[in-house]
Amino acid sequence: MKSDVKYDLLIIGGGISACVFASKYLKNNITKKVGLIEIGRGLGGRSSTRISKRFKGWKLNHGSPNFNISNSKNNLLLKRYIDELLENKFIKIDDSDIFFLNEDSNLETIKKSEFSSGVNYLSLDSMSEFSKKIIESNNSKEKIDFFFETLIVDMKFNDKEWLLTSKNGDIFKSKYIICSTNLLLHKRSLKILNVNQIPLRKAIPINNDKKIDLLLKFLEQQTFIPRLTFLIYTNENYGYKDYYSKKQRYFYLKNNLEKKCRFERIIFQLQDNNKLGIVIHSKNVGLVNSYISSKDEEVFKQKIITNFNKLFEENAVVHQLNFDEKISIMKWRASQPSGIAVPLSLQLSRKYRIGFCGDWFKGEGFGRIEGSILSALILEKKIKGLIK
Ligand SMILES: Cc1cc2nc3c(=O)[nH]c(=O)nc-3n(C[C@H](O)[C@H](O)[C@H](O)COP(=O)(O)OP(=O)(O)OC[C@H]3O[C@@H](n4cnc5c(N)ncnc54)[C@H](O)[C@@H]3O)c2cc1C
Repeated sequence: MKSDVKYDLLIIGGGISACVFASKYLKNNITKKVGLIEIGRGLGGRSSTRISKRFKGWKLNHGSPNFNISNSKNNLLLKRYIDELLENKFIKIDDSDIFFLNEDSNLETIKKSEFSSGVNYLSLDSMSEFSKKIIESNNSKEKIDFFFETLIVDMKFNDKEWLLTSKNGDIFKSKYIICSTNLLLHKRSLKILNVNQIPLRKAIPINNDKKIDLLLKFLEQQTFIPRLTFLIYTNENYGYKDYYSKKQRYFYLKNNLEKKCRFERIIFQLQDNNKLGIVIHSKNVGLVNSYISSKDEEVFKQKIITNFNKLFEENAVVHQLNFDEKISIMKWRASQPSGIAVPLSLQLSRKYRIGFCGDWFKGEGFGRIEGSILSALILEKKIKGLIK
């Protein structure tokens, strides 16, 4: 039990929004005792990298592979931060090939996707490293106690402080908390955390704080897109048909083709050892369900290769795959929020000393890294100087 340690600020979650918030908070405020609790083994959340133990030497970005800023012109806060990331050489402008394929698997002239509008940016390292670098900037890493593989399942507020309880019974105390995930605020927590009441609702009963009541009401109407990602660790000597050597190459499938072959996007990811990894994304409900109900994962994987080969049958740059390629599958239960977004005015409750950030807030970046970064920057401004 870690019940003796008291924090000034505890951050739940270690995705991009948490990392941006923590680094900015520690830069702009007198150092406080700060902790970060994350269920995963490392930082990055939905923008992280699979470093396979089974397949040595591979680093595949299995969530978001890059990110786009659809509009920073009217937002100085976001623009300045992106400039900072560019100056620090954490990111660069992503000038990789982007192909949009139409129903006949031919190149489409109308190039439109929520993930590629505006300016695209690429981490100079892997996506997990990107989050790490953000939190390491301003020497903030040494000022934070990290608790990985720790799942918060219960929250309590007792006038003076928050008490957070993890699945294995550890208790964390803090004056202020930041939730960079909305799992503890949403009805999906009932099943995932095996609890009988939404943890935040349990901690702050109805009619105690209008802002919290409204926030939970908005979230009642927020849904999440499940996604599958197939990570293909290609065989020796697999490469492009041409001499393309940039780090990533993207193929987006237009609506009818996406329906037909049940893939949404395919990202080729060149590895440090020059091997070529492939990550296929799918949000096709039929495919997700057929994966869940499939009794033989090998048969399912063969179907994925068949679909891939059909899609790229006559493609000028992509080779066919063999049926013995190594594949792992990642199921994202909640890859992206959808439906109703939460207004940014509900980001902070001073009364209950709790703040929220993440891609689930309203704005152009809703459901994307752009929204995660912006909400974290705005929250940091709101909380500045509040924690005494
Ligand atoms: C397959 C896929 C593809 C995507 N593609 C793109 C793209 O091309 N462009 C783009 O901009 N965005 C994309 N996204 C969305 C993007 O990844 C997210 O918007 C962004 O990473 C969200 O960051 P975040 O910090 O807000 O949340 P998260 O990354 O979800 O961070 C929250 C963290 O909290 C942790 N956590 C949750 N509950 C608890 C708990 N109770 N206790 C402890 N820890 C907890 C989680 O493990 C997680 O690490 C994609 C997402 C996926 C999954």
